[in-house]
Amino acid sequence: MKDHREIIDQLERERTLPDADFTALLTDLSSEDGEYLYERAREVRHRVYGRDVYLRGLIEFTNYCKNDCYYCGIRKSNCNAQRYRLTDEQILDCCEQGHALGFRTFVLQGGEDVWYDDDHICALVGEIKRRFSDCAVTLSIGEKSRESYQKYFDAGADRYLLRQETSDPAHYRYLHPADLSIEHRKQCLRDLKDIGYQVGCGIMVGSPGQTPEHIIADLHFMADLQPHMVGIGPFIPHKDTPFRDEAPGTLEDTLHLLAILRLMLPNALLPATTALGTIHPQGREKGILAGANVVMPNLSPTSVRKKYLLYDGKICTGDEAAECHHCMEGRMRRIGYQVVVSRGDWAGTA
Ligand code: SAM
Repeated sequence: MKDHREIIDQLERERTLPDADFTALLTDLSSEDGEYLYERAREVRHRVYGRDVYLRGLIEFTNYCKNDCYYCGIRKSNCNAQRYRLTDEQILDCCEQGHALGFRTFVLQGGEDVWYDDDHICALVGEIKRRFSDCAVTLSIGEKSRESYQKYFDAGADRYLLRQETSDPAHYRYLHPADLSIEHRKQCLRDLKDIGYQVGCGIMVGSPGQTPEHIIADLHFMADLQPHMVGIGPFIPHKDTPFRDEAPGTLEDTLHLLAILRLMLPNALLPATTALGTIHPQGREKGILAGANVVMPNLSPTSVRKKYLLYDGKICTGDEAAECHHCMEGRMRRIGYQVVVSRGDWAGTA
């Protein structure tokens, strides 16, 4: 039988593994072998991105959502959520503040809120690109038609984040109501890639009902899609959702998967997510040390931070943008990395 270090070396060399070896890494890694996995992932990350950490300024501009995903705190059935929408002026103010702090990517994220129609999104993207021409705009606003994605791209959007959540159809149905389908979500990702966006997919680690086989299916899906970014973070329950009593995903499982992804997709932009920082006080630092190279401090106005609660206990809901930025700079510096003033584009060639 191969030992775990041989499997890790093989993954680094070949960027893929037989399923049995993926299972071994996902289910049965000693802490020493885990450290070896992180070490290899760091090495690859240093080769591609050095010790730079890219910043993304997250602007959570609406928590209205027409979907009812069973895990999500802003699902439409959550009557306890206090709904809000930011005005264009508020969004542009967030960008202004972020730009002054050194952010060169703005991520507009929200629930699927039809109040912002395509013309509105395009006007907003166009205005951000006009005012901040040295910046990239990432959209994360869910499943749309190919035509809509094309319009946003033509208006100047550079990147799009859409986690597939799970590649397994039965697991997808377990996490979502019947009007949502994995086939459509995957089609959206393919359309986005085809149009020319830098595309991010991803999953929640430890989502209810998730098995190692599901994660392996996700790894195959990602190997096939070749995304530019992969957003993974632990599932964390929210008290007003059907999954309120489910266990959260673990720090270890998330770090292992981050490191596996770095070896599989050496050029990928991998965020150390807020959810990772929520389940452990040093979660984001540990994520960087497991191969991640992106952090996404919040630029949303403090008045709405507590309302964009996807899960319980979310961190950084009280801090001003400048404090978040300062805190992140210090956190990265203390582990030997530096946040950089850069758009932080994907390092590969198409
Ligand atoms: N509506 C857009 C979409 O569907 O892609 C973007 C917003 S959505 C709230 C962003 C991500 O939050 C989802 O892709 C999901 O993985 C994550 N999320 C939602 N609920 C979560 C929870 N309870 N724990 C961890 N992550 C969660």
